[in-house]
Amino acid sequence: MSNSTSQDHHISSESPHIVLFPSPGMGHLTPFLRLAVIFASQGCLVTLIKPQPSLVSDEESKQISNFLNSHYNINSLEFHPTILNSENSISNLHYSFINQVKALNSLILCQLPSFLLSLPKPATALFADFAVAASLETVSSDISIPCFLVCTTSARCYSTVAYLPELISKISKNPSEFEIPGISPVPRSIIPPSWLDISYSNELLTTYLIPNALSLSKVSGILLNSFTSFEKETITSLMEGKVLTSLPPMYPIGPLHPYELDQIQEHDYFSWLGDKPAESVVYVNFGSRTVLSDEQTIELEQALKRSGFPFIWVFPKSSFDDSFVERKDVEGFVLKGWANQPGILSHPSVGGFINQCEWNSVTEASKEGLPILAWPQHGDHKMNAEVVKNSGLGIWVEDWGWGGEKLVKRNEIEARVRELMGDKSLRAKAKKVAKEAKEAWEGNGSSKQALYGVLELLIQQQQQKKNHHLK
Ligand code: UDP
Repeated sequence: MSNSTSQDHHISSESPHIVLFPSPGMGHLTPFLRLAVIFASQGCLVTLIKPQPSLVSDEESKQISNFLNSHYNINSLEFHPTILNSENSISNLHYSFINQVKALNSLILCQLPSFLLSLPKPATALFADFAVAASLETVSSDISIPCFLVCTTSARCYSTVAYLPELISKISKNPSEFEIPGISPVPRSIIPPSWLDISYSNELLTTYLIPNALSLSKVSGILLNSFTSFEKETITSLMEGKVLTSLPPMYPIGPLHPYELDQIQEHDYFSWLGDKPAESVVYVNFGSRTVLSDEQTIELEQALKRSGFPFIWVFPKSSFDDSFVERKDVEGFVLKGWANQPGILSHPSVGGFINQCEWNSVTEASKEGLPILAWPQHGDHKMNAEVVKNSGLGIWVEDWGWGGEKLVKRNEIEARVRELMGDKSLRAKAKKVAKEAKEAWEGNGSSKQALYGVLELLIQQQQQKKNHHLK
């Protein structure tokens, strides 16, 4: 499956000029890069505003360079170098999400209007991240082009965040679940406690979640990396304006096609996987930022060994001590750093995915029909895990709690690994999800139609601009 369609156009002077402004963090950057490929395939001129080097990890910088080196049709530009104040100094930024967000927003406020004016060809629309919604509202009169947001999480989580200012007002009643119009109630237990902590010092809420949630109504539309059949109730309600009447139009255009799949290179782990029977290998990856405790890592490793299924386990670069080293043997391939995840997920030998439910990973598994054992750790993970469970893509043991809340023992994990790999009905349901993901991008599929909706809007904008200049 590819998200580019048979109606691909060629760039002309009338083509819309899309400017993409991703936020730092691999989970935020990835959908923007994938979107860049789709817009370019549709004949748009695409400019990527590269995140400031001091705001991104080495791996993100590497991904951006690799991406641009293999996509010559996508332009890239950077904001003027900025001297960030000491609070936002480079060493802090890699560790503090809030400081990253603050730095990003100061860039928008100080530089975005003049940056857009200086582009060789005027921009038709800007696509940015939720993290800058409030700043975009502040500068909207100076930039005078439509701004869209790219939602990097599930529709379920997006609805909860959009409704968060309301939920906060009900927190004193101590509810066990929250009613949100048009969607099934959201259990309090799946919302991270920090999102509901109304203390003045909680900057996650006061600087990030609330101001941006309140500005959602001011953007021209939301592009969602999900597809209607995957989150039917939530997406339908959002599109019908049932969740909040003030929300802008929603365009569910997922699952976005990983460009990485078109450029799979040979790696040791692909030849290791090649020797294994079909659907026999468990793939474990808790994302680029989550690190399990040493005790939990040992329990999981023992569970995998006892289950008898070979496993491939990718650890973030920063994690694990010398006692848990990179290795390759019959039972497992353990590596540290970066693996081509979309390539591994699509490999025929891989039969199950143990993951914390960051949204890109979930959408990638949905596309492959690969069952997930959801093990949420923090942030939006539990809301996404709910989608995984309800759609039939995987299993989620709610009792395991948030990351680090309790030590899940090896026998309990082993039983779930066996279920993940052995339950035929689970595999069939996951395959059905993949079929629906494919259909969303075929013929009159919902994601393809949503993309055309956005493109039509952009072409209209372009036309209006031209008419305006002719007057
Ligand atoms: N990823 C990868 N190799 C890795 C780890 C992650 O290719 O070793 C990719 C993964 O396929 C996904 C993105 O990086 O596209 C991570 O986004 P996600 O939202 O799943 O998790 P996060 O990194 O934000 O925790």
